[in-house]
Amino acid sequence: MTGAKVMVVEDDLDLRGVLLRGLQEEGFAAVGVGSGAELLERIEPEAPDLLIVDIGLPDTDGRDVVQALRAQGVSLPILFLTARDALTDRVTGFSAGGDDYLTKPFAFAELVARLQALMRRSGADTSVEAGNLRLDPVAHVASADGQKVSLTPTEFRLLAKLVASQGSTVRRRDLVRTGWPHGARVRDNTLDAYVARLRKKLAELPGTPGITTVHGVGYILE
Ligand code: CA
Repeated sequence: MTGAKVMVVEDDLDLRGVLLRGLQEEGFAAVGVGSGAELLERIEPEAPDLLIVDIGLPDTDGRDVVQALRAQGVSLPILFLTARDALTDRVTGFSAGGDDYLTKPFAFAELVARLQALMRRSGADTSVEAGNLRLDPVAHVASADGQKVSLTPTEFRLLAKLVASQGSTVRRRDLVRTGWPHGARVRDNTLDAYVARLRKKLAELPGTPGITTVHGVGYILE
């Protein structure tokens, strides 16, 4: 598992695509659905850590579906998207169980900042650990015994994948799938170059596990 998983409930396909790509680039795992019915169907199997819910869904009002989820005891942080700017919308958004809202159009950086704030407020423990090595998915920082190195989003996703599978080999193919957008053409030596950079960064941290090459197969954190 990498950073927090965000489920985007948005029927505007263009906007949904932009959000999913952007969130993945920021190191989140992101899945999208287009209606209230799909949200209800997928929320349990997908088990997201955060929800982004458009209020204007084709089959229901996003606030109604969130209210239903809250009534079922679903407690994850929820951010509403609204095309409207009326004060009543904001107020009813909160009373319907939303934790925050953004009015469209919004800057993507603003959305990410709000999500990070929601995660901090909810105290969701989204950190990933292996031995004394700790990954912070919000700050994209790896740390050990008080020392820190910053990672790019791609480096973060690759290392988080290795950490999540620590002690077992992660196939090259799976690393590429984790590190890069679906369908991206990634050359073998590109992955190797990223791993080399990660090794260098890990070497700056005291006593952390290292990345070993499993020839022809992949890499292992041990
Ligand atoms: Ca909509």
